[in-house]
Amino acid sequence: MAKYIVLLGPPGVGKGTQASRLSRRTGLAHISSGDLFRENIKKQTELGKLAQTYMNKGDLVPDDVTIAMIKDRLSRPDCKAGAILDGFPRTPAQAEALEVMLSGFNGQVNVVPLINAQQDVLVDRLGGRWTCRASGHIFNEKFSPPKESGVCDFDGSELYQRDDDKAETVKYRIVVYMEQTTPLIAHYRELGKLVEINGMQSIERVTQELMDALKNES
Ligand code: AMP
Repeated sequence: MAKYIVLLGPPGVGKGTQASRLSRRTGLAHISSGDLFRENIKKQTELGKLAQTYMNKGDLVPDDVTIAMIKDRLSRPDCKAGAILDGFPRTPAQAEALEVMLSGFNGQVNVVPLINAQQDVLVDRLGGRWTCRASGHIFNEKFSPPKESGVCDFDGSELYQRDDDKAETVKYRIVVYMEQTTPLIAHYRELGKLVEINGMQSIERVTQELMDALKNES
């Protein structure tokens, strides 16, 4: 049966970095809702234009468009064995829609690792974050710098700082997370799917604990 992993955690905790490491190790598709929106913005699609107005402010994109975008993505062939969801669901309505969607694919959310860290660490990490323009690979000037400044180690493309990684927007995104996304923690805990992981450990250690959580689930 297909396996679906939902990575929960505040902005800046390392969900993107860890999702791409888990994807390489497990072969499961990495689906980042933020990356999908950014691709749409780059291509200037209607969805991209709409999403941009919310993303620039640090607000969530409305549930109906986000859910439709993820449903489309999950129905592609590379998700047959399952997926690692990074940044979705972010509201109770999205979590509910995901359950319905996955039952349609004969699956369910198997495990929900919650990666956590103190707020000052998150602000620090996002402030130093550099993202690769071609594929969204993530670096941090303090904690995991690229070999060559401004250049992606993986594909040589340009690194840039996201507009919504500015200090004021970062703080607002954390508030949005606290208000709209944290109710999902209790939801998945009640279902017995939540596994808490300390995101202030090394990247390698966090990946190891995530891999253990995935193994224990199967
Ligand atoms: P991220 O790359 O996960 O930090 O997401 C960047 C931005 O994309 C967020 O601040 C939201 O504006 C938007 N976004 C990403 N995922 C979602 C989602 N599941 N629901 C609504 N908006 C989202």
